[in-house]
Formats: sequence, C-alpha cells, structure tokens
Amino acid sequence: MRITELLNTERVTISCELFPPKKGTQLENYKKIVADMAALRPAYMSVTYGATGGTSDYTVELANEVYNVNHIPALAHLTCASSTREKVASVVAELKEKGIENILALRGDIPENVDFPLPNQYRHASELIADIRAQGNFCIGGACYPEGHPEAETIFEDLDHLKEKVDAGCEFLTTQMFFDNNILYNFLYKALKKGIDVPVVAGIMPITNRAQVRKSIALSGSMVPKRFLAIVDRFGDDAAAMKQAGIAYATEQIIDLIANGVNHVHIYTMNKPDIAGAILANLSDIYVR
Ligand code: FAD
Repeated sequence: MRITELLNTERVTISCELFPPKKGTQLENYKKIVADMAALRPAYMSVTYGATGGTSDYTVELANEVYNVNHIPALAHLTCASSTREKVASVVAELKEKGIENILALRGDIPENVDFPLPNQYRHASELIADIRAQGNFCIGGACYPEGHPEAETIFEDLDHLKEKVDAGCEFLTTQMFFDNNILYNFLYKALKKGIDVPVVAGIMPITNRAQVRKSIALSGSMVPKRFLAIVDRFGDDAAAMKQAGIAYATEQIIDLIANGVNHVHIYTMNKPDIAGAILANLSDIYVR
C-alpha cells in the first residue's frame, strides 16, 4: 500500500520506526521486535538506513519482514550521501523486487574526511528523489525540519530547498523531532505559504531516559522547552518515573497535535514496542485501528 493513500484521508494515522541491527547481530531478535511492534497495528512502520548505529545492509530485510511477513505497510529509508549511484540503484531494485512501494529518500549525513561530493555522487535529497522516481512507481517521502536543518543559514533558505524536494517528486514529508508543538504549527504555516502542500507527518520522539536527552538533542539540534527540562531534572534519576513521564509527555504532544488538525504522527519508537504500546494504549479511543 502506498503511504499517501493513508495520508490523503481525514483519518488519524500513527506510525512507528525501527532501526536495523549492526552487522553480526542476531537478526532473529530484531524480527521479534518487528512482530511485537506490528502487533500494535501502527498505520505503517519505517525502517531507517544506516542511522542510530544500525547498518544499511539490513534495511531491506527488515522492511520485507514488516511488509511481507507482518503485513503492515513498510517505509524503507534510503540515504545517498555516502553511496554511489550504482549502490542506490541496487537497493531500489531490491525494494521493487520485494514489493515495497514506499521510500523515505534522504541525503544522510555527509561522510567525514572525504571530498564531498565526488563526481557522479548525489549532493542533495532532491537529486535522489528524482532518480528514484525515474526507477519505478514508488511513493517517495522526504525529511523536513520545523526548526530548520542545522546546515541551513535560515529557515526560509531551508524551505526553498524543501520546495525543490517536493517539486522533484516527494509526495509526503516527515518532520525532525520537536518538543514544542508551536514550533510545528509555525513551520506548517510557513511551508504552506511557500506552496508546500503535501501531507506532513509530525515526528514525535518519546524521551524516556536522561541519556537520551543529550543524545537526541545533539543529533537533531532540537530545542527543548523548560517544561520538559523540568521533567528530566525531577525524574531523570529514577528510570521508571522518567519512562512514565516521557510517555505522558509524548502522549500529550500527540493529543494536542490531533486536536489541532495534525492527523498524521510518526513515533520515533527506537525499537521499543513497550513504549510504543504504552503511548498507543493512552490513545486507544483517539487512534482507532
Ligand atoms: P537535504 O534535503 O538534501 O537537505 C540537507 C541540507 O542541504 C539542508 O540544509 C538543505 O537546506 C540543503 N539543501 C538542499 N538542497 C539544496 C540545494 N539545491 N542547494 C543548496 N543546499 C541545499 N539519516 C540516516 O543516516 N538514516 C536515516 O534513516 C535517516 N532518517 C531520517 C528520517 C527523518 C524523518 C529525518 C528528519 C532525518 C533522518 N535522517 C536519517 C537524518 C538526515 O539524513 C540528515 O538530517 C541529513 O543531514 C539531511 O538529510 P535530508 O534528506 O534532509 O537532506
């Protein structure tokens, strides 16, 4: 199923994210995580590509597990900054062969200590999007940044490039994590003014332990409101309390989004079905599967 079929309706969708294992790790354990997450019946599940320590080698395999074994629509991430065009073409061919129609096309982080871009290498996600489009009838999504991408001088410059991505064939967007919904509402207004009118899926990261605060913020550069920092200060040293508070904070963010007409939410579940399950249980009459 194409993800835009889900996003172009008034129905609320909540999706989850998985990251693949490192090379040499038992794939069987990850298949169990996929099955546990699938049992929660998210609208779709995405599988990252070489992010958060996982290896890109297993992205197609886990996306296959999501779609062909657990029968949940799968969204396979694909990054291009550290890949050749040949490697990208071979991953796209594998996805096509497995019947996976949805790709989140990303530039990825620029590899350190190498000249970038090498001749014939992708420079921006928009180039990857155009290339995937030429290789088949895929439903292509892209990333967007409510606070601006860290490399962009201004949010307006970033929005210009985002519009190029949409014009290249990106049919929906998923946001970087944010911890204050007003940041998203502001962004949506600016994006619409730029003519970016594809569905935007709000990315919510449940922060359930103190270490995650530092790591997630360093990775994303997202602003953390004082209200959230107070929660970490108060509960950060008590694992169970911090987990409960993080789940409650993410739940509250999602309820506010849906109440304000943002119907599509992607939870950065980080391979934790228990956290995804707790949030979805809190939303059982709001997100009806
Ligand atoms: P782009 O859209 O290419 O933008 C990157 C920067 O270049 C921006 O500052 C943009 O304004 C600028 N830019 C774009 N086009 C032009 C142009 N024509 N001229 C000049 N500047 C331009 N990383 C992974 O490694 N694996 C993953 O699975 C993964 N999943 C992600 C999922 C989501 C929802 C998000 C938000 C991020 C994800 N990332 C992942 C991180 C992502 O790869 C990085 O944020 C990366 O730095 C940018 O990728 P992009 O696709 O947004 O790049």
